[in-house]
Amino acid sequence: MSATKKAMLLLALIVLASLPFVWPNPYYIHLMVVIGIYAILLLGLDIVVGYTGEVSLGHAALFGVGSYTAGVLVLKLGAPFLVALPMSIAVTALFGMVLALPALRVTGPYLAMVTLAFGTIVQIFINEMDFLTNGPLGISLRKPDFFGYRLTATDYYFVVMTIMVITLVVVNRILKSHLGRAFEALRDSPVASDCMAVSVYRYKVYAFVISAALAGLAGALFTYSEEYISPNTYSFELTIQFLLAVIIGGRKTRSGALIGAVIVVMLPNLLSDVGLFRIIAVSVAAVALAYAAYALATDRRAARQAVIPAALTLAMAVFAYRIDDMTDYRLTIFGLMILFVVYYLPDGIMGFLRSIVLQLRPQWLSRPDTTAAQGDSQHVWAPPEHAVAVSGNLLEARNVLMQFGGLKALDRVELKVAKNSVHGLIGPNGSGKSTMMNVLTGIYKPTAGEIEFNGALISGQTPAAIAGSGIARTFQNVQLFVEMTAIENVLVGLHHTFRSNILQVMLNTPKYRREEREARVRAASILAFVGLAELANEEARNLPYGKQRLLEIGRAMGLNPSLLLLDEPAAGLTAPDIKELIEIIDKIKNHGITVILIEHHMDVVMGISDTVTVLDFGQKIAEGRPAEVQSDPKVIEAYLGGAAEATC
Ligand code: ADP
Ligand code: MG
Repeated sequence: MSATKKAMLLLALIVLASLPFVWPNPYYIHLMVVIGIYAILLLGLDIVVGYTGEVSLGHAALFGVGSYTAGVLVLKLGAPFLVALPMSIAVTALFGMVLALPALRVTGPYLAMVTLAFGTIVQIFINEMDFLTNGPLGISLRKPDFFGYRLTATDYYFVVMTIMVITLVVVNRILKSHLGRAFEALRDSPVASDCMAVSVYRYKVYAFVISAALAGLAGALFTYSEEYISPNTYSFELTIQFLLAVIIGGRKTRSGALIGAVIVVMLPNLLSDVGLFRIIAVSVAAVALAYAAYALATDRRAARQAVIPAALTLAMAVFAYRIDDMTDYRLTIFGLMILFVVYYLPDGIMGFLRSIVLQLRPQWLSRPDTTAAQGDSQHVWAPPEHAVAVSGNLLEARNVLMQFGGLKALDRVELKVAKNSVHGLIGPNGSGKSTMMNVLTGIYKPTAGEIEFNGALISGQTPAAIAGSGIARTFQNVQLFVEMTAIENVLVGLHHTFRSNILQVMLNTPKYRREEREARVRAASILAFVGLAELANEEARNLPYGKQRLLEIGRAMGLNPSLLLLDEPAAGLTAPDIKELIEIIDKIKNHGITVILIEHHMDVVMGISDTVTVLDFGQKIAEGRPAEVQSDPKVIEAYLGGAAEATC
């Protein structure tokens, strides 16, 4: 953490701690408590929305489950705070697991619908289960007491703020760790995650459970803060508010969750006071105008984009002085503000502020974390030598049949890949090469046949298990984790080197810190190995295409594989990039790693392969040394036939 960040955090802590004394207004203290509670929930919601990229409309219901667990425990059993709180967390975490089940089958809008249904069902149940929840009458209770001392509202403020700060620290640790990277990876490419031995299944469940646990914690705290709960609170409207808070604040940032909480709690209140609204409108307009002026001076295109928001905010400021009473306009203005933020600041307020800071940051100030991430990149990584016997087969595919409906994409294919060789796999488009790769890595389960790797049967295992046993791959259509930096992509490949569990990450134990440090050093040297050391902190989506392909190879090397599958690695590469690629494949082979290479550039395959297998219409039509295969009449026919068809 940088010194400025530390100083700001310290300042925030001092402000939080002194607030009830300098501003002892019970109404605002209560608002602050609600903000703290919402912040806890939003920190958790961001794990699902920002990191795994799923939309959950079930979080108000999870919040309700937490609230009611505490409420019912107090009502029925007179449970003390220190029992009710952990029970709420545990019960809601269980509900999170239930919510994760559909998330494993459907995503996107479908999952949003399922979570919405979940929310409705929970609300109905709370309403109907009179014997437990008092139904629509709700449950009343009082602030927690400790050994006969009942907490005052101000005491409770400190309890909530302390828990909020702890949550902030813990969630931050989780999201910065290999677990957080796993969540992000499965958002950007579930297939690639599985093929990096990061089980999508497992980490989706983790994300939902952690997120739900925090919603439960927030819910229980809410019960004690309001001293009364009833079913209508946990409505569809609340769930939308939560979602908006994450989006407005800015996903994938802790500060975004805090700002989001402040906005959804405070804004409706602030908007009821015309004086305050004028101050807000004028300040926002001032910021927008200042930004537009700055953009005009530096970048014409940005300036053009800044014109409309500047004009809109200015109009809003003028409007603020033309009205005398807010009541009629409150909701409209709230809605307009949300529209404005969502449209113009897709990365939320924090994303916007960060982009400005990055632009304004003087050149000599390097970006944070770069030094840590570089590791010792002078020391170039080399793949660990694989102690393999020079003879024998590493992989044997026997009689593999892969059928899609009536189409036999692979028709009884036999493939033997010798240890420590480069095995070329060629054939016209649609001949089944990529299908073979998908069968070998477990993405497709073969209709018939079996695959043996390193003496063990792998056909039928999950992609993550197969990857874990030492088969790494790249993809024909690049499957990087696009929102993650180059080094983070490689770190996902190194996920298997982490032994620390979530508790050790939360406590930031020396063991976990050592693992993270070692993984970063290794990732930096792998990047140097594929020639990307300079681009370590660049987001993968910003890399040129050729570099993206090299990064995919680097990420695959993170798995420390004994077999590497490359699906058309030279496609779309420039001549110098291809030269670099050939050198890299050579180096990989020299370290005892076996390579299966699918490639259309004949000079590349023929130049580096020891053996070449040719597929046509899913069948193996030739196999042998490159020179033999090249002169085989059947191969020439297949390629010429394909070419003749293509011209017809
Ligand atoms: P190649 O990589 O050799 O160009 P592919 O393995 O991608 O060829 O495809 C082989 C054949 O299998 C093609 O006819 C393709 O349309 C078909 N195919 C591949 N994947 C699927 C799938 N998931 N569903 C249906 N057909 C598929
Ligand atoms: Mg293909």
